Amino acid sequence: MSILDFLFPKKCISCKKLGDYICTDCFTYLSFNDSSICLVCNKPAINGLTHPGCQTRYSIDGSFSSIIYNPIAKKLIYNFKYKPYLSDLRSLLSELFYEGIIQNETLARTIQQLNHKTIVLVPIPLHSSKLKKRGYNQAEILAKGLSERLGIPCSDVLIRNKNTKTQFKLDRKERAENMHGAFAVRSNISISKYPNILLVDDILTSGSTLLECSNVLKRAGAKKVFGLTLAREQ
Ligand SMILES: [Zn+2]
Ligand SMILES: [Zn+2]
Repeated sequence: MSILDFLFPKKCISCKKLGDYICTDCFTYLSFNDSSICLVCNKPAINGLTHPGCQTRYSIDGSFSSIIYNPIAKKLIYNFKYKPYLSDLRSLLSELFYEGIIQNETLARTIQQLNHKTIVLVPIPLHSSKLKKRGYNQAEILAKGLSERLGIPCSDVLIRNKNTKTQFKLDRKERAENMHGAFAVRSNISISKYPNILLVDDILTSGSTLLECSNVLKRAGAKKVFGLTLAREQ
């Protein structure tokens, strides 16, 4: 037994049963996501790809979420974000994220069709003040977990210039405005080396973050940009 297990005995984040961070009963409530939307119009798109009619020069090419953001997933992600000593949770969530991705045939095919050497995983950055407060970027941890499993490199291509206000009470249009100018490509990065980008984040809500990042990356020369999120709010 490690000191950490002693100090923080493993118990289910949902029902509090001792043993593991999620017990087998609660685990069965988690489910893989099998419905997707087009991020541009917010309407269903069977495979998560942006509708051809919605695609513009700088818009995202598609987005995929691994699991449904139900109450159990919500608790898991909350603990992952705010209780950093629960390191086992990191590998569990990375594994769920990865499984959801490889089960999605469209996404697997899309990754296969792109030259593997041209793809990079890019975590959505936190603003430096938030990063300082939390100590780590949860999207970066997930991106690194995917990177190991998919064999695709991970790079912190983006920086966050603006400490955006919480999106909770904003409508779709206000969220887009709130995000405008929030991100930039790191000055020492050349997009041409890895022009195909898989953005990584923990939760998909309105998609305004992914849309804004795609815009910034494509203006900097990215060819294809897809968004991968662990869970999608429905
Ligand atoms: Zn439980
Ligand atoms: Zn659409």
